[in-house]
Amino acid sequence: MPGSLNRYPALVLNADYRPLSYFPLSLWSWQDAVKAAWLERVDIVAEYEHVVHSPSVQIRIPSVIVLKDFVKPQKRAAFTRFNLFLRDEFRCQYCGTGNELTFDHVVPRSRGGRTSWTNVVAACGRCNRHKGSKSLARSGLTLRRSPTAPAPEQLRNLGRKFPPGHLHVSWMDFLYWDAELEA
Ligand SMILES: [Zn+2]
Repeated sequence: MPGSLNRYPALVLNADYRPLSYFPLSLWSWQDAVKAAWLERVDIVAEYEHVVHSPSVQIRIPSVIVLKDFVKPQKRAAFTRFNLFLRDEFRCQYCGTGNELTFDHVVPRSRGGRTSWTNVVAACGRCNRHKGSKSLARSGLTLRRSPTAPAPEQLRNLGRKFPPGHLHVSWMDFLYWDAELEA
């Protein structure tokens, strides 16, 4: 099989036809997608023009597949570095820059501050160094918003703002129609 076919990822939908995840967008390699279809774990919703051959079969590469069994979304967002950056939209929560991002304890650890959703924010190196072990009030910095634990739904919505570099036209319906309607 030609290696160039790694360029044909399949968008993976949950059984409710919503993407399994947005950030990163749930994508499988064409090999995994074809295998899952062969094993009847997924249905093929849309296909690429390209065809792959084995000695006995020929199959168009799936571009969108849907799981037959529904995967329950998590009730709570995992407290990870990545999810924290995503909650803060990859911006320093003091000055708003997206450069040189680090993590800052709002109440410094040296003053008993916890490592938690409500006390850690994305901060650029400059603001982080400026704040040091000072309290927020003494630092002269202000938070753009007070940090809270995000709901998984909130992270999913934020994830939509950061689409991957490659979007196949057959994915658009599923990404577009799932967006919340704005009043
Ligand atoms: Zn900053």
